[in-house]
Parts: sequence; structure tokens; C-alpha cells
Amino acid sequence: PDAADYIRRHIRTVPDWPLPGVQFRDITPLLSNPRVFRVLIDQFVHRYFDQKPTAIAGLDARGFIIGSVLAYELNIGFVPIRKKGKLPFSTVEESYELEYGSATVEIHSDAVKPGERIVLIDDLIATGGTMLAGARLLQRLGAEIIEGAAIVDLPELGGSAKLRAAGLALFTLVDFE
Ligand code: 5GP
Repeated sequence: PDAADYIRRHIRTVPDWPLPGVQFRDITPLLSNPRVFRVLIDQFVHRYFDQKPTAIAGLDARGFIIGSVLAYELNIGFVPIRKKGKLPFSTVEESYELEYGSATVEIHSDAVKPGERIVLIDDLIATGGTMLAGARLLQRLGAEIIEGAAIVDLPELGGSAKLRAAGLALFTLVDFE
């Protein structure tokens, strides 16, 4: 059986959450089942093993779960990119527009060194704003981004196309309309 289908079958769609009309793609069933969790992580391990990333950067908060396990499996470090106000040391930040208002993400200013080769990971790409802000932070610290990676892409929202147009290579496992 195809790994992507197996993964897709363990993503739960929750209608009208967090707002009416939104179909939230819930990845917690992927995490609670140890067989599918391993299949999921192995997709990323096999893709990046030969590319020799120097670290995995994960986006707050579901990117931490898969990103930290991936980093551990590749025997490299993990770097969190957090929502503003959570990181204690000196930071650099990027803000981006949401449908209503804006959001800001931060990284520790010493978290990656110039020339490092980073995989940037999150659970899902919707409008692409979160991943683009994360990519900008890594670029500002002089890192090379091997690829942005996510479990799910929502292509109809245009985020993945926008990210690719901005020059970011992307790898996703499952599309939902
Ligand atoms: P974007 O910035 O691409 O519009 O939104 C992606 C961010 O919002 C990701 O960090 C992701 O975790 C979260 N997100 C938005 N919609 C969903 C969804 O339907 N399911 C999950 N699991 N995360 C979502």
C-alpha cells in the first residue's frame, strides 16, 4: 500500500473548526498510531538522509513534533521557530499578514550559522505565510534552505504555489482540496 494513502487515511477532517466553514485537517491520529507515525517520519528520513542537512528547523507547534523526531533520526540538531514572545535569548523576527490582523515568528539569532543547510518543516501549508516567514528568518541568518517540508498541502489556497514562486523548493506528502 502506498505510504501517502496510508498517511492520508489517518488525517481527520474536523468541520467548522476553529471557525464556521473551515475544514480543519487534524494530524493527531497520525501521532497516536505508532505504525503510521513511523511510516510518516520515515518518508522524511529517506528523503533527506543523503542530502546531509545540518539541522532541522520546525515551525510552532506541530512542526516541532515531526521536526524533532526527524532531527533525532538524522542525528542532527533541531531549531524551533516560535510564535513571538516565547524564545528567551536574542531573536530575529518576521511578521506576516493573516486574513484578520498579522502574526510574528521568531528564531534565536544564534540558532543557525551562515552556510548551514536546513530543512524547514511544518505539518501543513495553507496560505504559505507561516512557512515563508520561517524561510525568511533562516535566510536572514545566512542559512541555505534545502527544502520546505510538510505533511499536508492545501493547494487551492495557493500557498505552495506562492512559496515555489518565491524560490523555495517544497516537499509535501498529501494534498487536500
Ligand atoms: P498558513 O500560514 O500556511 O496559512 O497556515 C499554516 C499554519 O497554520 C501551519 O503552522 C499549520 O499548523 C496551521 N494550520 C492552518 N490550517 C490548518 C489545518 O487545517 N490543519 C492543521 N493541522 N494545521 C493548520
